[in-house]
Amino acid sequence: MIKEASAISWNLDNSYFRLPNIFFRSVTPTPVRLPELVMFNSPLAAVMGLNDKALQGQEGIAVLAGNQIPEGSSPFAQAYAGHQFGHFTMLGDGRAILLGEQLTPTGQRFDIQLKGSGKTPYSRGGDGRAALGPMLREYIISEAMHALGIPTTRSLAVVKTGEAVIRETKQPGAILTRVSSSHLRVGTFQYASEWGAFDDLRVLADYTLNRHFPDVEVGENSYLALFQEVIKRQALLIAKWQLVGFIHGVMNTDNMTISGETIDYGPCAFMDTYDLSTVFSSIDIKGRYAYGNQPYIGGWNLARFAETLLPLLHSEHEQAVKLAQAEIAKFSELNYYNWLRGMRAKLGICNEEEQDKNLIEGLLSMMQEYRADYTNTFRALTLDTLDDSLLFGSTDFGDWYKLWKARLARQQGTEAAAHQLMKKSNPAIIPRNHRVEAVLEAAVQRDDYRLLKEFLGVHRDPYAYSSEQEEYTSLPERSSQPYKTYCGT
Ligand code: AMP
Ligand code: MG
Repeated sequence: MIKEASAISWNLDNSYFRLPNIFFRSVTPTPVRLPELVMFNSPLAAVMGLNDKALQGQEGIAVLAGNQIPEGSSPFAQAYAGHQFGHFTMLGDGRAILLGEQLTPTGQRFDIQLKGSGKTPYSRGGDGRAALGPMLREYIISEAMHALGIPTTRSLAVVKTGEAVIRETKQPGAILTRVSSSHLRVGTFQYASEWGAFDDLRVLADYTLNRHFPDVEVGENSYLALFQEVIKRQALLIAKWQLVGFIHGVMNTDNMTISGETIDYGPCAFMDTYDLSTVFSSIDIKGRYAYGNQPYIGGWNLARFAETLLPLLHSEHEQAVKLAQAEIAKFSELNYYNWLRGMRAKLGICNEEEQDKNLIEGLLSMMQEYRADYTNTFRALTLDTLDDSLLFGSTDFGDWYKLWKARLARQQGTEAAAHQLMKKSNPAIIPRNHRVEAVLEAAVQRDDYRLLKEFLGVHRDPYAYSSEQEEYTSLPERSSQPYKTYCGT
């Protein structure tokens, strides 16, 4: 008889487990009382070469709940440090346990991690658990980000545990299965640099190069190449966030991946009204992680990464600092370049002119002044459905519109081509906060997942401009209370 575990088609490797043992602590998930699978991502299971049906069967659910360890797994929690709101601390996976790395039929390697699966040696005072609402929220937003074309960790499943967790109130507990190309963070390097020996750091850097950048021409200084690649990926990632109005909310260095994937969907949210100072996170009092500040924080975090690499970059400290500084200086330029290219595409511009910056900045400053909705403004420009909003009704905008049309007329290519470029660069919809809240409320309070599944369905192709998406473009009713997001997940 074939065992069900093998029917799931686990193909787990444990390369991280072969690193020096300061990098992790072996720990098994704490079993839960009554597992119930509430979300399952079949397309992702297929990408991973996992058997969809078997994984949703009894044995699969037992694994997704942490009640059973899959074949080939050596579960552990990762050690890492991080600057949280600028302050350096030892952290580590306090409520996440890595089961292993699934090797897919196409040769990819994905970490499979259970989030909310019980205490670990890094839990400090925490309970190691997670509440259902925030885990569903991570599932929705990470999958929507993926559909938007933004590198991100993904969500394979959510299992209700049948146990309560105590937050401000008592809430149903849940476990999210997170999938990512790795869980290496800037904070992993900070940990190695602070508490490891030189060799631990070197082994970690070699491991990272091999895992994420095997095809990069490293030249004479492979660690400099590593730094350059991480800069490139983060410069692109943060530009992509800016272009869709995504606010991560907690860009601590432990929440910045080396792979360039978005990670840790805590207090994140999408901006409605365009405003550089937008902050949703209840704990971000000073706006450190405000929308407009994200590129700057990206650079700050990469400077912390650079500090960890100094002993590897050059045997002489001063030389190492010089090398690192020269690279760091390129980050903001590269990030701006990616953003500018994306903004041109959002306006249907397919070549480059020096004045494009002014054209773009001109529109954005009017949007800020007239409190225009970010996504819907670009959507209206794409569809040429300018209503009588404050922005579109203003003479400033009328002047800008003529300049924009003249700019488009100067480029080669048809109007239809410009329109197509705009359509694929401007999402028709984003996961709006008021919608996300409504969907979560139905699922968590009433055990009704219909809205959530419909929501996921329409966000699967945010560039479709389909008729079902129309109602998802509506704005929240004006409320006296600004929308707030919470870290205490
Ligand atoms: P985060 O804000 O999610 O990036 O988490 C910051 C740190 O707190 C990480 O080390 C987490 O593993 C840890 N942590 C968050 N929630 C819990 C919890 N419920 N139990 C234990 N550790 C937690
Ligand atoms: Mg984190």
